[in-house]
Amino acid sequence: MGRTDFPRTILEFQARFVDEQACLDYLFACRWPEGFVCPRCHRQKAWPVSARGTWECSGCHRQTSLTAGTVLHKTHTPLQLWFWAAYLMTTGTPGISAVQLQRQLGLTRYQTAWTMLHKLRRAMKDPTRKMLSGEVEVDECEVGGRATGRRGGRSLTARAAEVIVAVEVRGQGSGRVRMQVIHDATSQTLCGFVVENVAPGSIVHTDGWMGYVPLAKKGYEHRPRSQRAARKADDPDPVMPRVHRAISNFKSWLRGTHRSVSNEHLQVYLDEFVFRYNRRGTPMAAFRTILGLESEQTPATYQQITAEGPHAKRQT
Ligand SMILES: [Zn+2]
Repeated sequence: MGRTDFPRTILEFQARFVDEQACLDYLFACRWPEGFVCPRCHRQKAWPVSARGTWECSGCHRQTSLTAGTVLHKTHTPLQLWFWAAYLMTTGTPGISAVQLQRQLGLTRYQTAWTMLHKLRRAMKDPTRKMLSGEVEVDECEVGGRATGRRGGRSLTARAAEVIVAVEVRGQGSGRVRMQVIHDATSQTLCGFVVENVAPGSIVHTDGWMGYVPLAKKGYEHRPRSQRAARKADDPDPVMPRVHRAISNFKSWLRGTHRSVSNEHLQVYLDEFVFRYNRRGTPMAAFRTILGLESEQTPATYQQITAEGPHAKRQT
């Protein structure tokens, strides 16, 4: 068993990441699986210069932090708690809420748990991911918009958000999924989403909305099918069943694990759902990805997270 192998059970996990040093050893093994190599002069000799995982090259004296470029950089929270948070988030099928994480890790502040989860979520959107391909269903739907009260006999509803969804057709089942909040249903927005997420040459199924018409000119085999026409013709085949299944799974996940989410944060939860869905078979890769151990992207800061939704105002 290699050093970066992922523990299979909760007991193995506990034994493996027993203290801060064990977590640092894991980070070391992820960064330098063949042993230390200086990123500047490629020398292979170094010594540790801090308790938090900074190594200094014996040749050029460049210092390299094991946490640089990961979500763990400059955090005051122990690495062990981060590892547990990532473990609970990636191995539990429905994920974990901030309240549950706070309780399980014994954190004094809800704020800390909330920030940790949001930082981990940020790494769930992989900018280098491959486009969907083959045959793809695309449709929009509304999410949220719950009744918030009644006034003068009329129920007041929070505005629902519009979401566009693409799902790969894999036989009777579904392949990978993409979901994105949209602010209008113009052809620019709808076709823009398809162009960004679906490989040219793919077959794209949509409803009969004219916003999708330009797809045929953008290198796709567009197969529109209107819901109304299908109903009229008594067509027994459901229209885009995979998209509708994905969206209903998303809604019940959101309700079950997170109760309700404000519209400003919806995209982050869509990203988490998509990430879980697309990696349902590889929890170890998911664990490493959300800790930022195998990507070049810079993790989000607390300010970036809260700037987009003032859910929490205090600094941790
Ligand atoms: Zn060096």
